[in-house]
Amino acid sequence: MSNDCIFCKIINGEFNTEFVYENEYVVVFKDINPKAKTHLLVVPRVHVESLNELEDKNLMSELLMAVKETTKKLGIKSYKTLINTGKEAGQEVFHLHIHILAD
Ligand code: 5GP
Ligand code: ZN
Repeated sequence: MSNDCIFCKIINGEFNTEFVYENEYVVVFKDINPKAKTHLLVVPRVHVESLNELEDKNLMSELLMAVKETTKKLGIKSYKTLINTGKEAGQEVFHLHIHILAD
């Protein structure tokens, strides 16, 4: 948990955000500023700043499996996934997340 991290606060339930999918390792919620009809964020419960800081191989497996489980649950068969890493690449929230985008 990082005190000034918006995603840590969401995970902590501070904004009553609805989780589309969740398990022991990840939560999935809607992006506040959707760039597609369906725009979800798959977020690890632990605070990892970006892919550059990720050391836990199992966590990336859990994130990708959560992408699969979430899209399966919602009946979405075609979608894009995106990870922005670093400010210059467009990362705005420095808590690792995978975007799911579907029209
Ligand atoms: P990034 O640019 O870091 O890859 O993506 C961050 C995403 O988080 C953006 O698409 C932005 O709209 C979304 N976002 C930022 N703050 C919030 C928030 O408070 N709640 C939700 N649900 N999404 C957020
Ligand atoms: Zn965080």
